[in-house]
Amino acid sequence: MKIHEYQGKDILREYGVAVPRGKACFSVDEAVAAAEEIGGSKWVVKAQIHAGGRGKGGGVKLADSIDEVRELADQILGMTLVTHQTGPEGKEVKRLLIEEGAPIQDELYLGLVVDRAAQRVVVMASSEGGTEIETVAEETPELIHKVQVDPQVGLTTVEAEDLAGKIGIPAALVADGGKLMQALYQAFWDKDCSLAEINPLIVTSDSRVVALDAKMNFDESAMYRHPELQELRDLDEEDADEIAASEFGLNYISLDGTIGCLVNGAGLAMATMDIIKLYGASPANFLDVGGGATTEQVTEAFKIMLKNDNLKAILVNIFGGIMRCDVIAEGLVNAAREVDLKVPLVVRLEGTNVEQGRQILADSGIDIISATTMADAAEKVAAAAGA
Ligand code: GDP
Ligand code: MN
Repeated sequence: MKIHEYQGKDILREYGVAVPRGKACFSVDEAVAAAEEIGGSKWVVKAQIHAGGRGKGGGVKLADSIDEVRELADQILGMTLVTHQTGPEGKEVKRLLIEEGAPIQDELYLGLVVDRAAQRVVVMASSEGGTEIETVAEETPELIHKVQVDPQVGLTTVEAEDLAGKIGIPAALVADGGKLMQALYQAFWDKDCSLAEINPLIVTSDSRVVALDAKMNFDESAMYRHPELQELRDLDEEDADEIAASEFGLNYISLDGTIGCLVNGAGLAMATMDIIKLYGASPANFLDVGGGATTEQVTEAFKIMLKNDNLKAILVNIFGGIMRCDVIAEGLVNAAREVDLKVPLVVRLEGTNVEQGRQILADSGIDIISATTMADAAEKVAAAAGA
């Protein structure tokens, strides 16, 4: 799960990480009032969307007067912001963060992720802040310093200060930099983050170390123990179809191909997507209806897939293990009758009572292309989609 920068900064502030003073705003008037309340003579107007690269896309601007704050807020609020993370369609800006402008002396990078191979949290830091860390990793990997944190001990002062020194935080500020890193690690740990990225972490001309940006992602599987994070969810930023699917217990991820996939079991779903690719077509979604696959779920799944304008054919690939194929076939037939299937439907059933299941499909009068093996199904659905 993702949250906005201002929400991330609220969490960081609680943990003692230095962040600029600022306020989230939903209108131009609010933005102006916030700037007046913050005071000073420099402000930053920042688009709040769940994607990075906002600066380059025109979503982060500096203002030297309240009038300029008003102008920029008016310009950014409601704009469709396109960044390398939004995709070409961009994201509409509905929230702003108004902050006091920080006097930047140096832009650094600080990021925490879970290293699955090492089974530890890795702290990454670099002197090369403000740019994409992927570029740094590719061109100058020696400028990224890493610490794999021992979970029993946490990030130690020695480790943190060592990193702070290596990325060029001045000696007099190394202790502050180290403390900030330890506080960030603690927030990451307590909140079950999957990612926490401060890019840039800055050294200011008045000798402070400050988190100027904040990106925090959380492990969805740990959400049950974080009701406080659930409240930060912004459904406007999430895929509408994925939200609808989750309400019916469907694991659904939108993709950009043309073949709708309805499969039971995540492993079979992955294999189905692979074989569709092998036959020259490409999946429009990942969809795992789970072990049960009730009529209601299948109907909802069809409805969600059919909303996609790119959809050219649907492949249903169900293995009847605990669920019997005849029950699944009944469900499929009822679901297909309920929705208006505008695209060819290929069905592969395998497992318990498969013969009865196939008979039910054949007797239903619904236009179904029946398939036997995975390869047969993939070939037929690719052909049906004209791929
Ligand atoms: P991102 O582009 O989505 O990663 O947004 P950031 O929050 O990282 O802002 C992009 C860039 O704007 C930063 O790298 C800074 O160079 C600049 N910026 C952001 N806030 C300030 C500020 O308070 N003062 C100054 N001078 N520049 C800022
Ligand atoms: Mn940034």
